[in-house]
Amino acid sequence: MLPVVVVHGGAGQIPKERSEMSTAGVCRAARAAYSILQGGGSSMDAVVEAVSLLENDPSFNAGCGSVLNVKGEVEMDAIVMDGKMLRSGAVSAVRNIANPVQLARLVMDKTSHACLTAEGANQFASAMGVPSVPQESLITEYSQMRWKKNLTPDADPVECQMGKMGTVGAVAVDGEGNISCATSTGGMLNKMEGRVGDTPCIGSGGYADNNIGAVSTTGHGEAIMKVTLARLILFHMEQGQSVEAASDLGLAYMRSRVHGLGGVVTVDPRGHWAVRFSSRQMSWAAAQKDTLHYGLYTGEHYTQSINAH
Ligand code: ASP
Repeated sequence: MLPVVVVHGGAGQIPKERSEMSTAGVCRAARAAYSILQGGGSSMDAVVEAVSLLENDPSFNAGCGSVLNVKGEVEMDAIVMDGKMLRSGAVSAVRNIANPVQLARLVMDKTSHACLTAEGANQFASAMGVPSVPQESLITEYSQMRWKKNLTPDADPVECQMGKMGTVGAVAVDGEGNISCATSTGGMLNKMEGRVGDTPCIGSGGYADNNIGAVSTTGHGEAIMKVTLARLILFHMEQGQSVEAASDLGLAYMRSRVHGLGGVVTVDPRGHWAVRFSSRQMSWAAAQKDTLHYGLYTGEHYTQSINAH
């Protein structure tokens, strides 16, 4: 059953003309992460590679392609967690960084802190030699169009985003049984400046524990934080629930208790995995035993050999 990697490209409703790009992106990321795992690489290397590729892909709401805040600017959040010693690193409200997930990993590896925010995170990036990129390189025509559309007084950005999301994340178990997760996002459409969502919050945007499993989440961040969705799902797994049942229980609770929609990718230490979402769609892909699995709508599950293109 090991190794395994599961990747998501955000919960929501993906417009038809973008669905192929979105599926191709998650499949590419799962393949790249799986080849790291097959080469004996760690689950942390695998999830960071998967998420970095998705950040670089303008089809997703992370890195290049991030949604814009109310001022038309990009502020991003990301987290990584290593299930062996429960080490984690995160950045929030960070600007001008191409790969926030890699910066989150540096926070984990090179500081004694769990999260750095805004200017402090950017100062740390430059101290670490991470280049600052022009904001324009992170902004797409599509994100600008959606930002403008949601500036009108009768707009409902949350509703609109539940329509079209694209936060990215990954969970993996490597050949040694080490489990990791990573999540990265531009946040919510037309959010206030300085708004920080669930993604960089440990237990909300993700959690990994070698003894239980790992979860990466996507969806309405304010709702996810209220129920600490990732940790809630792992709690159900600790109580003996399967990856599928625990993921469903967490999402159902978020829906009934706080009317929140979202999606998750979940793994356990034996390599069982689940993809669950309460939104209309979520692009996802998984790689295990030389097979690539992927889908977009509820119940959709295609497979092909990992080597087929
Ligand atoms: N959870 C992210 C946030 O609220 C958004 C998303 O998953 O699309 O920042």
